[in-house]
Amino acid sequence: MNEMIILLIVSLSEKYFEILKPIWEVFSLQAEVYEQFFINSSTPYSCHKILFDGNGIPFDFEFIAINKAYEELMDIKGENILHKRFYEVFPNSWEDNEKWERFLDDTIRNQKPSQIDIRRANVPKWVRIISFPLNNDLYGCIYFDVTKEYLQDNEIEGFLKVNIDLLSVMDIHGYYIRVNQAYERILGYKAEEIEGKSFKLLVHEEDIPKTNQILEQLKDQKFISSFVNRTRHKDGTYRYLEWRSEINGKYIYSSARDITEHRKLERELCEKNKNLARLTEELKEKNKILKNLAITDDLTGVYNRHFLNEKIKIKMDQADIENRPISMVIVDLDYFKKVNDTYGHPVGDEVLKSTGNLLKQLIRYSDMIIRLGGEEFVIILPNTTVDGAYNIAERIRQKIEQYNYPVAGRLTASLGVAQKKHSESFESWYERTDSALYQAKESKRNCVAKATIPS
Ligand code: GH3
Ligand code: MG
Ligand code: MG
Repeated sequence: MNEMIILLIVSLSEKYFEILKPIWEVFSLQAEVYEQFFINSSTPYSCHKILFDGNGIPFDFEFIAINKAYEELMDIKGENILHKRFYEVFPNSWEDNEKWERFLDDTIRNQKPSQIDIRRANVPKWVRIISFPLNNDLYGCIYFDVTKEYLQDNEIEGFLKVNIDLLSVMDIHGYYIRVNQAYERILGYKAEEIEGKSFKLLVHEEDIPKTNQILEQLKDQKFISSFVNRTRHKDGTYRYLEWRSEINGKYIYSSARDITEHRKLERELCEKNKNLARLTEELKEKNKILKNLAITDDLTGVYNRHFLNEKIKIKMDQADIENRPISMVIVDLDYFKKVNDTYGHPVGDEVLKSTGNLLKQLIRYSDMIIRLGGEEFVIILPNTTVDGAYNIAERIRQKIEQYNYPVAGRLTASLGVAQKKHSESFESWYERTDSALYQAKESKRNCVAKATIPS
């Protein structure tokens, strides 16, 4: 133990030595008391002797003295380490070699006080070692268990580091207290450029009011999610951040995710959908036009043969099923060939157009006018008996007779009328109507002939 006493004396600076001299004098008289003081101290101590190689370069050190508190903290028995070399006792036991090297450099080679935090391998304990030189080949250490402080800090630091989101702690006024490294990766700012500053410095001017509002809401609701604002990157561009924040006492804990790309894609998609909707509308419109073109007679604008083929079956079936009458009128201009021969084909065309228009004015919405070809128009009249059809045909005949065609002047038409029999085919029905027309032509023209319904 005398060794220890010597060490203590050596470690005291001259100034303190003077002050402590009287105490020391008491202690020196009571070596056992001192021994108890050292041995029983609740602060772990150790004392080491530095070992030098042949060239006077320190290469290791050995344990000269330790106390009980050391044994407890380090979970080690004195007899296993005393007067043994360090590397003999703890081969490869230090986790951070570089840190350890630095510590040894200061302590052994530069003979100055140093400090290191280490974690004992296999022992979940963090220990802070503070070393101080005693004399040329001796140094002492005191130890503190910093497990609690160290682990907590390390865990938080590690968590902040690995998290891909922007993590921050703010005060309730929106001043950043702490941010993680993601702020540099995502927004280009180092933590020290942000910490201590208000969110207002980063948030887009237009988004400040709603961000303020959210801060107020947070005070009541304690938690918000899916709040989005624009935050300025260091390069001046803005990023859309989606925030989740929680208030806890004086602090607001937030995680924010950069959804700029997501937003962009969303907007592009929306734009594309809008375009698609517009194109679909246009297409529908064009299809309608195309369809109309396909079923419309170019010259007169009334329906053509395609339309008749497509629709007549429906109309006929409907009439059969509902047991309703349906009639057909065929209108044929008299001596139309003469018009062409006298005034030319274009005038003949004009006559056909005018006739089409006249007919359109004379029929109901549910009726259909079809130009089958040449100067022959077929009119289908649903819910109309042969007599009703006759009346309409007669009206048409009169209108044509009264109409003054430009250039061609007065013309007449002959008309055949027939009501469809139940279950009769179109061909048969048409033939009967055509026969009626033939009769009209045969008799005197400019008249209407009615087909009789065969039994
Ligand atoms: P009818 O009193 O017996 O009906 O005699 P029509 O001259 O009216 O009958 P016809 O069948 O002998 O002649 C029909 C004429 O219609 C012959 C043809 O040149 C003419 N024609 C057919 N299609 C068109 C057309 O699209 N435009 C013009 N301008 N004439 C047409
Ligand atoms: Mg004719
Ligand atoms: Mg004809």
